[in-house]
Amino acid sequence: MRLRCWLSSLAVIAPALLRAQAADPRVDQLKTELARAIDNRAKLGQQMVDQVFSFGELGMQEVETSKYLAGILAKNGFTVTRGVAGIPTAWTAKWGSGHPIIALGSDIDGIPQANQKPAVADRQWIVTGAPGHGEGHNSGVPLNILAALAVKDVMTREKIPGTIMLWPGVAEEQLGSKAFYVRAGMFKDVDANLFAHVSDEFGISWGDESALSLISAIFKFKGQSAHAAGAPWRGKSALDAVMNFANLWEFHREHMEPAQRSHYVITDGGDQPNVVPSTAAIWFYFRERDYERVTKMFEDAKTMARGAAQATFTTLDTVQVVGSAWRPHFNKPIAEAMHANAMRVGMPQWDDKDQAMAKAVQRMLNWPDSGLHTTVPPLRTPEEAAKASTGTGSDDIGDITWNLPSVTLYYPANIPGTPGHNWADGIAMATPIAHKGVVAGAKVQAMTLLDLIMSPKLVADAKDYFVNVQTKTVKYRPLISPSDQPAIWLNAEKMAKYRDEMRKFYYDPSKYETYLQQLGIVYPTIPKITP
Ligand SMILES: [Zn+2]
Repeated sequence: MRLRCWLSSLAVIAPALLRAQAADPRVDQLKTELARAIDNRAKLGQQMVDQVFSFGELGMQEVETSKYLAGILAKNGFTVTRGVAGIPTAWTAKWGSGHPIIALGSDIDGIPQANQKPAVADRQWIVTGAPGHGEGHNSGVPLNILAALAVKDVMTREKIPGTIMLWPGVAEEQLGSKAFYVRAGMFKDVDANLFAHVSDEFGISWGDESALSLISAIFKFKGQSAHAAGAPWRGKSALDAVMNFANLWEFHREHMEPAQRSHYVITDGGDQPNVVPSTAAIWFYFRERDYERVTKMFEDAKTMARGAAQATFTTLDTVQVVGSAWRPHFNKPIAEAMHANAMRVGMPQWDDKDQAMAKAVQRMLNWPDSGLHTTVPPLRTPEEAAKASTGTGSDDIGDITWNLPSVTLYYPANIPGTPGHNWADGIAMATPIAHKGVVAGAKVQAMTLLDLIMSPKLVADAKDYFVNVQTKTVKYRPLISPSDQPAIWLNAEKMAKYRDEMRKFYYDPSKYETYLQQLGIVYPTIPKITP
């Protein structure tokens, strides 16, 4: 998920927001050192961003991505555990000892058909039809690695106790992993979690995010095949059940509360027209504000699915939950500390080429060509965050935020005005826009990690907010049932179809400075539009 279009015009530097910086001079000096250390590792940041971009893997199939990123952490002394929560591409990487234990997470999966040449303001595939990073999930774990390595060096030298744990958001686009991470106890002893998600600016807020809770499920129907012309009266069409179910849902939509979002695709519509479909399947995303409402939506859908089956003399074979998400809620004390760090770091120094790239993409999308944001917006209350957001997506980081104090750092590494979940969102993601954004984001993440490691008061305040404010009346209950299992089969066929062809374009940093150099692309490439 990506929340866009924060109102950066509201940016003002409120003196109150700078107060957290006035703290300990030792921490202050270490933060200056962290920023320098991250600048010195900018090359590694660029390599990681470009490498993961070139893998372009879909949810649950992030094989190369996980091997590569966890490998870098293992090489740097982190203890890597692979296949956590029963998900082959999930892992944790831990370093240090004792409390506080601070987790750093970010998503790693791509988007179907979002394969795109970076730095080109025009629809140009690298591999036609293939997936790609049309959301920018190639940048978040690299950001966390830069932050973790810098803080690790400081902790080692200064003999500061504490543990850093990195983890990847697998199959975020299907909301497929984080509820299972929670169930597997991945965050049991963790004191706080810092998440990172790509955006076009620093978006930091506390309280309920303007997002929705979600249940995603596949409904499979069974009928009976027959010659569709020769003996249709002997067939029972599972596709009829799917279409009736979808129609029932559309009629039902009128009677739902307006905040809901629901949408579906038919994943199995039969084989060919002259065979009455004996199987058919429809995949729904149900989104509502809270546990009760989204659970009711799902129960209503099951009732309608059974009705559709009955009306078509077919059967509802299985209902499989594929993903789920609680609406995220971010921790106030940590968000305040993080925002102070964002003010200190400031926006990346965009140059003329970065702005030309951004404006060309915006013009291509018929969006106002205002270029890249240049100011850090203020910390947002839940009300301001809701006003600043135009979207109502979902993110399974929500499940983690309801189990321990957490904040998401939205960082500026993409172009304002892109539609999200689209090839255009991939254009900037292996260019200096992403590279600079990741370095700036890593500094904010590292400084906030240092705040948590060095300030028992901040950890205590975060816990106090979590226990006495956030979860005072609302208690976490998973939206997955105890028998639901991670959908590790997701995207296997799609990935298998394209992987061999994509492999030819994996980034080779031993031969090329950047992925753009490897692809022979000039930055920025702006096609001439003939009037
Ligand atoms: Zn996302």
